[in-house]
Amino acid sequence: MSNGSHIIWRKYFFSQLRRNFLSIQYENREWKKQKADHALEWGNDTTPNLWSSITQNIGDRSEPTLINLKNSIHPLKIWKSDNRNRRNPCKINQEYWLHEEQRIGIWFYHSVLITKELLSDYKTSKESLSNNELAFYNYIHKSLDRLGNIDLSNYLEIHNWMKNEIQIMSTTTIDMNWFFTANNKLLNESIKKTVNNNYIIIAQIDNKINSDFFCGFINEIEFKKINNSTTNNTSYGVIKINNKNSSYLLKLSKKYTSLKMGIDSNILLKDIINFENQKNINLKTKIDIDIFDEKYKGRRRKEQKKLKYIYFGDNNPNIECGICGKIYNKTFVWMSHLKKRGECSDEEKSDINVVMPMCLFGCDKLYEEGYIYIDKGVIRHNKILTNITKDMLEYVNTIVGKKSKYWDEYIINGAITNGSNRQKYCRWHYEKKSK
Ligand SMILES: [Zn+2]
Repeated sequence: MSNGSHIIWRKYFFSQLRRNFLSIQYENREWKKQKADHALEWGNDTTPNLWSSITQNIGDRSEPTLINLKNSIHPLKIWKSDNRNRRNPCKINQEYWLHEEQRIGIWFYHSVLITKELLSDYKTSKESLSNNELAFYNYIHKSLDRLGNIDLSNYLEIHNWMKNEIQIMSTTTIDMNWFFTANNKLLNESIKKTVNNNYIIIAQIDNKINSDFFCGFINEIEFKKINNSTTNNTSYGVIKINNKNSSYLLKLSKKYTSLKMGIDSNILLKDIINFENQKNINLKTKIDIDIFDEKYKGRRRKEQKKLKYIYFGDNNPNIECGICGKIYNKTFVWMSHLKKRGECSDEEKSDINVVMPMCLFGCDKLYEEGYIYIDKGVIRHNKILTNITKDMLEYVNTIVGKKSKYWDEYIINGAITNGSNRQKYCRWHYEKKSK
């Protein structure tokens, strides 16, 4: 950590917070207007030094500058718009509801956390929430429950959680009218107390151009402790790191960037480096094919073990069922084949997409027997099988329409899943069972 490093900050504000939730289904002109206004303004011609440590020239809309972040799968996209009246503002793309590659997981995480704080304060002052307010309040709480306690440096988990949350929001309808604050005095007061006390940051680990950056949030107290700027801009700026506040930057970088992902962190790191080199993420979709052979039972076990490691190999004692989405102890979840293993070629057997964790509380067997099938990641009821009881149907009805989180681009233990491969196996199984 050397002097010359700095933190670029932007005061957090409500319309930016709202962007995180625009995937929620709500037919409203204001909501749609929010979607059209998709960029976060961060600096302009009057602040030429704001981004200069990162890049000498900021690109335009068609060729934005990419800023690689140490704790994000996706780089930040920044460009300079030509709007002289507004002094050519610098903008950051934040179309969370459209493009996965424009999401920065850690910012999303903090936004959900701040929203929880905001709604708790609002709930206390309002005493009783309306049904729509309560629906959103419950969503926020459930969302954080789904993530659980997490080390903030584990950004791949945060990314996957965010991806899943955006998916859930896109199938959730809530009237968000109350979330427009023009005449919602109580909400406005809560916003001042909670949202506005936060700062989005991009921090530089050392002072070289193209050095490592990471992003996060700091609160008002932290901001006041470390800010040494003498300018009066209250929206954005740069905090220079000196002897007084360098230990704080070190603390921040540890909070957000230390990789503690067990033995596979090397694979992940390698792939992140590939990504930073502007290549595609090169996570594997196959296990090594040479380690098993149908002739030897022992080797067969090795293949299964290796696939199992991909899905079950972290320290968490629990795992989410790929069908019902419920979390069970790993003892109660099997790594089920989407296409019957005996019918798979060696190539298919080595494909991590041929298997998926399924729980023993019904999902595994219902899939195997063909009562349910998966189409493009969504669980469906196969009505061709009529030998079904009312109680079985009741269970099936609780899972149809759910989307499997493992379906596509799910990153886990150095591997990434592929939905079109999965579709092939599920199709095969469906046709077999529908005869
Ligand atoms: Zn299940």
